[in-house]
Amino acid sequence: MQLKLPIDLPKDHKNDIIAVGCFDWRMRSRFMLFFEIYLRTTAFFPLDFPGGSKLINEYPEFIIPTFFSTPIEKCGSKRIVILDHEDCLAWGGFSAFENREIEKEFHYNQLRMAKEKLIAAYPKEKLDIKLFYAQIIKDKRGKSLLEFLRVR
Ligand SMILES: [Zn+2]
Repeated sequence: MQLKLPIDLPKDHKNDIIAVGCFDWRMRSRFMLFFEIYLRTTAFFPLDFPGGSKLINEYPEFIIPTFFSTPIEKCGSKRIVILDHEDCLAWGGFSAFENREIEKEFHYNQLRMAKEKLIAAYPKEKLDIKLFYAQIIKDKRGKSLLEFLRVR
C-alpha cells in the first residue's frame, strides 16, 4: 500500500498544551473528544498512558523526563490536563474498589499527587495543570455516558 495524506504544517513545533489520558480502547475516542472540546483545539500533545495519572505517580523519574521534557522544554508547553477514569483496568477496574465513591476518591487523590509531582519537577515553568475524572453514568434509556468531572 502506498498512502499519501495532505497535512498543514505550522512553521514551528511550539505548542502550549499536553493532554494526559488513559489508552483504554473502549473510551479513548471519547477522551480525545473531551480534550478537543475542553481545550477548543486539536493542537495538543496527547499522552496516552495506562491509567492516566498512574505512571506519573509510580515512575516519575522515568515518565516525567521521557514524556514531558520535549513538550515543556522544547515546545513551551505550560498547560497540562490530566484525566483519570472510572473502571480503569490499569488499577484493576471496578472490582479493585469496594464501591464507586471509594474509587472516585482514590482517583482524585492520584490526580492531585500527579499534579504535585509535575509542579515539583518543573518549579520554574509555572505549569497550569487541570485535573478531570470521567465517571460512567446512564441516561434515561440506559445508555452509558461518560461524565467529565473537574477535580480540584
Ligand atoms: Zn484506564
